[in-house]
Amino acid sequence: MNFKKAAQIAHRFADPFRVDKGKRFRLRDYDPEDTRHLTSDDKDRAGEALRLGVETLSELQERLYAQDKWAVLLIFQAMDAAGKDGVIKHVMSGVNPQGCQVCSFKAPTSEELDHDFLWRCSRHLPERGRIGIFNRSYYEETLVVRVRPELLHHQKLPPELIGKNIWDERFQDIRAYERYLSRNGILVRKFFLHVSKKEQKRRFLERLNEPEKNWKFSSADVAERQRWPEYMAAYEETIRNTATPECPWYVVPADNKWFTRIVVAAAVIDALTSLNLEFPHVDESARRRLVQARKQLEKE
Ligand code: ATP
Ligand code: MG
Repeated sequence: MNFKKAAQIAHRFADPFRVDKGKRFRLRDYDPEDTRHLTSDDKDRAGEALRLGVETLSELQERLYAQDKWAVLLIFQAMDAAGKDGVIKHVMSGVNPQGCQVCSFKAPTSEELDHDFLWRCSRHLPERGRIGIFNRSYYEETLVVRVRPELLHHQKLPPELIGKNIWDERFQDIRAYERYLSRNGILVRKFFLHVSKKEQKRRFLERLNEPEKNWKFSSADVAERQRWPEYMAAYEETIRNTATPECPWYVVPADNKWFTRIVVAAAVIDALTSLNLEFPHVDESARRRLVQARKQLEKE
């Protein structure tokens, strides 16, 4: 696999959706239906591109693992039915399970509420050499918790710490935390799978109409849908405040699953190739030991 070529293609694909200076970010500049120059006639070619992307990813991940220096953290956030699970499944399908871990964050347990909000995520950070995936994350703290303030009051914080600047303080803390991770060799990439309200409705109805999809449906999701504008405002604010050149967001169009998947794969390849991963160099004395080991085995 020619990494240089793959890296160029991946970069071209992912770059339009990358947000690394939050200040000017406006969600309305991003269209959930966007498929760039591709149409649904290109779906088969997109599938082929994804297959090649997955192969490239798996080769890069082997180097990441062998080198054992960097870790990669991929964070996925989205409204319900935007396709987080499917993206994670497809994009990581070629990766050696030993080098990859997925963690899903649900509503916090009582044990988790007894700690600071980053605690539960810190426990699941990837080790060096691995790719860690967060299906939801500490970003829920400025999304669902902001949209439903009663959740903040379950967090057992001392009341004098819940002031009018609480959200700005959380943004500051998240930025500082991610800077800390970057400085420790954890490469962070964040994905907002941007689905439209219309497409979400279509997917909910599909879950209701097809018996084998019924299990995916939760009536709580319909209640959250009623707060769509509040959620979009919270996403916009969050991205504006936490998109940085070291830890960028990708706002990925999510109305067409085939397109979402190639953009995410491209962004992950772009991230990994930026690390210039190589298999560890074997020096002269180690090489001599290898030659000796071979001789010994051949003598047996
Ligand atoms: P699925 O796609 O299968 O529905 P999901 O990620 O939506 O997966 P659920 O169990 O349906 O998983 O939902 C998890 C819920 O937990 C979400 O509604 C999310 O907003 C909520 N949640 C996650 N983190 C927090 C948090 N820190 N505080 C409050 N709620 C949270
Ligand atoms: Mg859900």
